Amino acid sequence: MAMAAPPPRVPQVPQNVFPPSTKSHSFSLSQLSIQPVRTKTIVARHSVSAATTSALEGGQAPLSATSAKVLPFRVGHGFDLHRLEPGYPLIIGGINIPHDRGCEAHSDGDVLLHCVVDAILGALGLPDIGQIFPDNDPKWKGAPSSVFIKEAVRLMQETGYELGNLDATLILQRPKVSPHKEAIKANLSALLGADPSVVNLKAKTHENVDSLGENRSIAAHTVVLLMRR
Ligand SMILES: [Zn+2]
Repeated sequence: MAMAAPPPRVPQVPQNVFPPSTKSHSFSLSQLSIQPVRTKTIVARHSVSAATTSALEGGQAPLSATSAKVLPFRVGHGFDLHRLEPGYPLIIGGINIPHDRGCEAHSDGDVLLHCVVDAILGALGLPDIGQIFPDNDPKWKGAPSSVFIKEAVRLMQETGYELGNLDATLILQRPKVSPHKEAIKANLSALLGADPSVVNLKAKTHENVDSLGENRSIAAHTVVLLMRR
């Protein structure tokens, strides 16, 4: 006689394992855990966006370094990817590169400058470019990404740092970057106010695989080292 099968075990899911989701992506200064790095109170000389303003002048907490850990060096990494579509210019590092397609983006879609901005912001412990310059803000529609770089450099300088060196890698199947590399590097160095010898640019294909390798997207990685002035 077969034994009655035991009742199926129902896994007991502990309650409150996952915190309740929050739909809001807004942030406050306390949530950002911004670690100012100098002893003087930081006051933005001009505001670029509401987010920047709230981060720097929000009045919620002074950005003084009373409890900040001052580091001699700070490292930041940036990554960006854009879809490539016919009918758009391809702008890399502020240079218009002839191609059969370009980046569909809210701003000029400059994948290199965007990821350099994120690397600098990351090194400073600040929010990412999407939070500082929200893409639903009409203010940034079609904006040249040099605006974002200049703001990142300003934040870097105001927090007492300068660029040590920067290493960026572009990933795209076509077109070849080598004929434009020096122009891109020179423009990026100028935007950063840095000597070209500390700005390095590499480029590679994606071996014809995935969207990057099929000329449907472009990506970039950047690592920066900031040094305390
Ligand atoms: Zn981007």
